[in-house]
Amino acid sequence: MTNDDLSMTINGQAVNSQSSIEVINPATGTVIGSVPDAGAAELEAAITAARGAFPAWRNTPWAERAAIVNRIGETIAANAAELAAMLTREQGKPREQAQFEVMAAVQWCEATATLTLPDREMEAGPGRKQITRYVPIGVVAGISTWNFPVVLSIWKIAPALLTGNTLVLKPSPFTPMTVLRIGELVRDLVPAGVLNIITGGDALGPMMTAHPGVDKVSFTGSTATGRRVMQSASPTLKRLTLELGGNDAAIVLPDVDIAETAQRLLWSAFANSGQVCVATKRAYVHETIYDQFRDALAELVKAMPMGDGSQQGIALGPIQNRPQFDRVNGLLEDCKANGHRLIQGAAPDGKGLFVPATLVDNPPEDSRIVQEEQFGPVLPLLKYTTVEEAIERANASEMGLAGTVWSKNMDAALHVAERMETGNVWINEGLALSPFAAFGGRKQSGIGVENGIDGLMAYTEPKTFVIAE
Ligand code: NAD
Repeated sequence: MTNDDLSMTINGQAVNSQSSIEVINPATGTVIGSVPDAGAAELEAAITAARGAFPAWRNTPWAERAAIVNRIGETIAANAAELAAMLTREQGKPREQAQFEVMAAVQWCEATATLTLPDREMEAGPGRKQITRYVPIGVVAGISTWNFPVVLSIWKIAPALLTGNTLVLKPSPFTPMTVLRIGELVRDLVPAGVLNIITGGDALGPMMTAHPGVDKVSFTGSTATGRRVMQSASPTLKRLTLELGGNDAAIVLPDVDIAETAQRLLWSAFANSGQVCVATKRAYVHETIYDQFRDALAELVKAMPMGDGSQQGIALGPIQNRPQFDRVNGLLEDCKANGHRLIQGAAPDGKGLFVPATLVDNPPEDSRIVQEEQFGPVLPLLKYTTVEEAIERANASEMGLAGTVWSKNMDAALHVAERMETGNVWINEGLALSPFAAFGGRKQSGIGVENGIDGLMAYTEPKTFVIAE
């Protein structure tokens, strides 16, 4: 089955381009469709449309904009089955998890639409009034990646539109279809030019981030690309939100229930085949329980069925694209070359990009699999002796996205959580994101946050009025 008729949305219209990009199902290696490969002309049209729509949209009452964000969510919900099936085909994730992602997008629209940013009145002395209002920035370029194409796009669409900005959104060329389809479904709900969705190859992102008609860039992707985005945004001082890579540590204290913690940590590390920005990417386990914990986790890892996500009963899908597949395999090769012990589950043969779920048994701290972001189903387990040592090793990273702590003793867990140099820290679970809570990375994991009131503020600028009475 192919999808060759998906169109971009520019100024409320369906737009195609002369050239196209093929989309491949990573579970089978087959081409499942092609999408427009936008060039400079289509980008110009999208930015012109967004600029043109901005004055009226900025002046549209907040409640009306919230109602439209809500209707986007309702439309996605009404088409969830079609969207989830398409998402599984292009991204590879199992059907239930695709459905979960699509419904998370719905939840994010609903929740974001309930948020407001009221004016703030401040003390200004006698005879004066002083008010700060959060005004929209203008045209936003949204760029997202392939691990959660739907939800990461909604994280930009909902707050950008609610706050009165207009948007030009570009999903990853590896997973463009479901987002283009959402654009088609909501095209008539949103005033022309407010939401533009374009697809293209490697040249399109840099053109967006350098374009003088863009006022803000909201970027989700790797730290390496984030640096380039920041550089290209600098000549015009664009506002920036950068949601980048992570190397999230888990610290497992000696008092945990081993079976229960192994089960929960399994999912924190291996959900979406490890292709989650906030996946557990290295787990520090206290030496007194290390062997037992490793063996419990190993049983679970070996029992997870991996395969084509459109089939029943699959827990883990493929790596989404060839470059990432090569990267993860490169890290496994490095482990083998250095004699690290691997504990692996089964992976299907064939043309799919499958990498077996793997535990790496206590590799050295300076090994590549510990130091680099794997973004795949491979988890190094590391033995530690003192909690202070574990915290130090966890923080010895240029990344600081999220972390987890596992213990029955809340005081002990909080002691560790407070010391982790990350934007989020979860106790006794992982991956717990909320539309109401700020999410972002410290250090080189990003700049700024998405979600919640803080995320909304990132789409605005404070404008202060001082009125002499
Ligand atoms: P990537 O940086 O290669 O690509 C991300 C997006 O940027 C794609 O749409 C791509 O087309 C575009 N792009 C590529 N070069 C560009 C350039 N020079 N200028 C502008 N845009 C450009 O990232 P990836 O490898 O596809 O994604 C995986 C990474 O994303 C991982 O590091 C992961 O941790 C991170 N991630 C972070 C979050 C978060 O919220 N912090 C969420 C998901 C993924």
